[in-house]
Amino acid sequence: VAHLTKQQRETLAKTLQERDRELRAEIRAQLLQSGEESHKDLAGLVADPGDESVANMLTDINIAAVARDVREIREIEAAQQRIADGTYGVCVDCGGEIGYARLQAYPTAQRCVVCQEKREKTYAQENHPTL
Ligand SMILES: [Zn+2]
Repeated sequence: VAHLTKQQRETLAKTLQERDRELRAEIRAQLLQSGEESHKDLAGLVADPGDESVANMLTDINIAAVARDVREIREIEAAQQRIADGTYGVCVDCGGEIGYARLQAYPTAQRCVVCQEKREKTYAQENHPTL
């Protein structure tokens, strides 16, 4: 992550942390709203997960809105892991640098703009065969 300054990395880490907190608050509210006893216990754990992966705690929850938030939390946890590993901000496809502006907009981005567009094009073609 040599291309990111220490300050930029800290700013992005903070953005990820804040988003994670927001998502957990949302999930907590949704679990409590569901009215199920077992969900109430989980809601407490989500508020204070300690070293546990929040995403892993919630894999069995069948609430669409929670599933969506869990997917985003998973991406955040992966990004935080990459920060810890020192691989954050490096494109997983080409190994190139992901620009700071892109990371500010998408702090969980795993690919540079070029590779992301390539990937989306590939998927678009798969979804619409041209035969
Ligand atoms: Zn790339």
